[in-house]
Amino acid sequence: MSFQFVGGNLAIDFANTIVIEDGKQIDLLTNPKALYDWLKATNMPLAELPDDNGLARAVTLRDAIKNILVTYNSGTAPKSEAISRINDQISLKNPTELQISDNGSFQFSSLPNVWKLETALAEIASEVSELLVHTPKTALKVCAAHNCILHFKDVSKAKRRRWCSMETCGNRAKAAAHYQRATSG
Ligand SMILES: [Zn+2]
Repeated sequence: MSFQFVGGNLAIDFANTIVIEDGKQIDLLTNPKALYDWLKATNMPLAELPDDNGLARAVTLRDAIKNILVTYNSGTAPKSEAISRINDQISLKNPTELQISDNGSFQFSSLPNVWKLETALAEIASEVSELLVHTPKTALKVCAAHNCILHFKDVSKAKRRRWCSMETCGNRAKAAAHYQRATSG
């Protein structure tokens, strides 16, 4: 399965790199290239492929975010280390760099063209913190399809969004309901 960007938030999309396919849980970030590709798809291209340690740090952060989203949905407490993992990464956040221009004045660089892995992970950690602090709990949802575990932020006014995506799970549910009506009459 390819990457899903249905979460409406960078950190939720990161958590959504664990998917269900044919009833089985699949991790989409099993090698450094996959992490590199995911970050590139979210406009945080790395200067080079991460090493295995980098991948492990990214997956640790991803799992912490996933744990928090899942437990938040189910009304249970997240693992305490999940919150520390996120804070470990936030403390490394500094996407802009000090630059000196031709005329000698100082300025901050805009967002980097190529990212360091630590900075990219810090960006994700900071997004999830903003999300958890500022988004009402009722807007943080998990797809209602029984064979889907994707999370998303419901930005609709009525907060009635049920599916990660209308194209996939939403349409499948509509088709199933239609089939039931057609066959039960
Ligand atoms: Zn879904």
